Amino acid sequence: MNIYQQGRIFMGRLEKDEDLYQQITKIVRENEIETGIVKVIGAVQKANIGYYRQDEKEYIYQQFNQPLEIVSCIGNVSLLEENPMVHAHIALAAKDGTTYGGHLGEGTIVFAAEVYIQEVKGDKLRRKFDSETELTLW
Ligand code: ZN
Repeated sequence: MNIYQQGRIFMGRLEKDEDLYQQITKIVRENEIETGIVKVIGAVQKANIGYYRQDEKEYIYQQFNQPLEIVSCIGNVSLLEENPMVHAHIALAAKDGTTYGGHLGEGTIVFAAEVYIQEVKGDKLRRKFDSETELTLW
């Protein structure tokens, strides 16, 4: 385990119609956050959520073309080939309370989103290809 200290904290809201994943990545890269923690609550107009098939070793994505509440979206920032990369998961609730969740993909469109990004300072946290899972892991 690496040990980190708290760095800068960014809080704010995203605009309606922005792509949730792309905007978080933009904020992270513009502010040169190399390692960090991401949390979001709010609502989306539609969502694109991934599920990693462990047997096939590939992501399958499912689109939800309906308004959904962001019950929880948590993620992290670390380096992939020296570029800050956001990895986030999201739980979304429909009108009847049914929840869907998974790996946050591009194409998840904001209705309203309150974002918290905390930078952490310390050793660089890098992703590299793991042959057992075929994922880029720490
Ligand atoms: Zn994931």
